[in-house]
Amino acid sequence: MNLIHNLSKAELAEVCLSFGQPKYRSDQLWQWLYVKKASDWESMKNLPSDLRDKLIDKFSLQSAVTDKIDGNEDETRKVLAKLPDGECVEEVLLVDGDRKTVCVSCQAGCKFKCAFCASGQAGFTRNLEAGEMIGQFLLAEELFNDRINNLVFMGMGEPFDNYDNVMKAARIINNEDGINLGARRITISTCGIVPGIKKMSEEGLQFELSVSLHAPVDELRSRLLPVNKQYPLRELIPVCGDYAEKTGRIITFEYTLIKGVNDSPALAEKLVKLLRPIHCHVNLIPLSPVAEFDGVPPDKETGPMFVELLTDSGTNATLRNSRGSAIKAACGQLRYAEREE
Ligand code: SAH
Repeated sequence: MNLIHNLSKAELAEVCLSFGQPKYRSDQLWQWLYVKKASDWESMKNLPSDLRDKLIDKFSLQSAVTDKIDGNEDETRKVLAKLPDGECVEEVLLVDGDRKTVCVSCQAGCKFKCAFCASGQAGFTRNLEAGEMIGQFLLAEELFNDRINNLVFMGMGEPFDNYDNVMKAARIINNEDGINLGARRITISTCGIVPGIKKMSEEGLQFELSVSLHAPVDELRSRLLPVNKQYPLRELIPVCGDYAEKTGRIITFEYTLIKGVNDSPALAEKLVKLLRPIHCHVNLIPLSPVAEFDGVPPDKETGPMFVELLTDSGTNATLRNSRGSAIKAACGQLRYAEREE
């Protein structure tokens, strides 16, 4: 059955029109879906019952439900969200004061097999529909019992391998007559799919772009992210530069620190040189250990030292805590653990 959350505002208007309904009915329905965030058709009291019956007949309102939760309310929570076909994906809920962030998945599994990421280890099952990503967002608001003010596409999967559905979900969540989450509060993270970065630079959108870099030299990056063989740094970096120039936005580069692998001062220096031409920020995150990868997080003093080397040379950088490693919050870990059981 079709998910009602798959429809853009214009598509919803067309559906209502095809049911012989005036335009304002689709506006009312949009309000129920994205302002009042109704979870059942019966509550949509101002819609005529014959319209509701037609909608019930054609569309499902349930795009994602909770299968399992790890963690508790004050900290990072990891949710295994069950989709209509029974497939499960992970989402992570993070609270930092007033900042409430949800990290959603865009695919069940992943094709890209980054060395330290559990998502790819379990293989790829399927793309998620836009409504299933919106469903994860709405589920997070339900669990927080509050509004979410940040959305990151950093769960399972590669957003630019499911480009149209991810952009559609982001646009619906951004729509000002509905959820109205600001574009700058929506981050799309890629392992470095060059055509996707180019395409996004042409969208005329204010969404944030994050690029998972993890190494400043090809040989090492190809070992950690096999996608680098397809889109090596000599192609990736100029496209990131073009993106920043064209959109006027700052790109964030993600750099997961792994002890003895990519955390040396020499590599910090190479990173500075590589990124010098680009208006960017580097997010450094200690590795969250995963069973399938034998790397470990850096020593305690390495992270701050690495940040200092970057900032002293004029590269903006921040060291983040890898919150939630106790609850297996790294990409793909919970779903992977489920399968092992
Ligand atoms: N495919 C997209 C988004 C999903 S991964 C991408 O690659 O950006 C989100 C981020 O988590 C990426 O930067 C990824 O490299 C990082 N990540 C995955 N597993 C991790 C782990 N075990 N420890 C730390 N970061 C990890």
